[in-house]
Amino acid sequence: MSVLVIAQHDNNSLNSVTLSCIKAATEISASVTVLILGYHDLKVIEGLRPYKAVSKIIYADSSSYERFLAENLADQVVALAQDFTHILAPATTFGKNFLPRVAALLDVGQLSEVTAIYNAETFERPIYAGKAYTVVQSLDPIKVMTIRPSAFEPVTEQWSEDEQAVAEDRLAPLETLKKPFENNHSRFESLISSESKLPDLNTAKRVVSVGRGIQGEDNLKMVYRLAEQLNAAVGASRAAVDAGYIGNDHQVGQTGKVVAPELYIAIGISGAVQHLAGMSDSKVIVAINKDPEAPIFEIADYYIVDNLFRVIPELTRAIEKNS
Ligand code: FAD
Repeated sequence: MSVLVIAQHDNNSLNSVTLSCIKAATEISASVTVLILGYHDLKVIEGLRPYKAVSKIIYADSSSYERFLAENLADQVVALAQDFTHILAPATTFGKNFLPRVAALLDVGQLSEVTAIYNAETFERPIYAGKAYTVVQSLDPIKVMTIRPSAFEPVTEQWSEDEQAVAEDRLAPLETLKKPFENNHSRFESLISSESKLPDLNTAKRVVSVGRGIQGEDNLKMVYRLAEQLNAAVGASRAAVDAGYIGNDHQVGQTGKVVAPELYIAIGISGAVQHLAGMSDSKVIVAINKDPEAPIFEIADYYIVDNLFRVIPELTRAIEKNS
């Protein structure tokens, strides 16, 4: 059994969701190869080598992979696939973008959002928007799986410098791919990304999320202020996104991001099942809503029934006073 994990990174630093995928891979096999496709990303490679769980690193440093186009990534993964029994990528926008293509090209089924590994062919995954979990067995010769990062603690164990000095070959060996894949079906045009000093929503330890109750884009200022104080990422319900209050890269839920931070503060969010699908695994949930019957209260650890326009400023003042 051998597992291939496709690393998520930004050509500069590794996204920690990759370490969660590696953790999942170790539950299948001790042989874990990590594939890094990118451009000018040598720092990512060196950062990964000391991890004890990584048996080998394959990489291609090519402009073909700079923008992570699904067609190029998928063709490269498929070219390597026959050497592996399992192919894993994080269930993030990155993994969801190209892995279904890999599965289709290999003519196997994709196992999506895997949350637990029972053995090499039996896995747990959510169904009905996270309302239930199912255990599935795959008999495909190559299992293609997206891994829900929040379900697996990232690997941390690394060879120390002393251990490396004794035996340098402990570090994962590197293999370079010389011939990158380049397709004619798609081409990169431009990237529109939001600049933020706040943590990444996928991996943040704290998330402050807003719903339709915020009533307008201008009112987001106080939410961002609270997020800055808590060093939290800002999430949102789909209703807030659809109303144009905030960009869709903030959406949490069934059709947005799935997060499981240590603290999730839901502000003016009713708690529809599709929203809960993206945050119900959070360790501590705090809900602020003026409606005492709001369904979010059913899963909240702490809640405040009040007008958010009164509660948030009071909260920020209290944090300021105590910091
Ligand atoms: P509402 O349901 O309108 O709730 C607003 C809340 O704010 C209310 O509870 C209200 O009491 C409270 N409020 C209003 N004013 C104040 C105030 N001043 N102070 C305090 N509280 C106040 N939704 C998602 O979030 N993520 C998804 O990924 C997602 N995917 C979906 C996929 C499908 C196929 C479908 C059909 C729906 C999906 N939805 C998703 C939408 C979901 O069903 C809900 O419509 C949405 O989550 C509601 O968002 P909301 O709670 O912000 O808005």
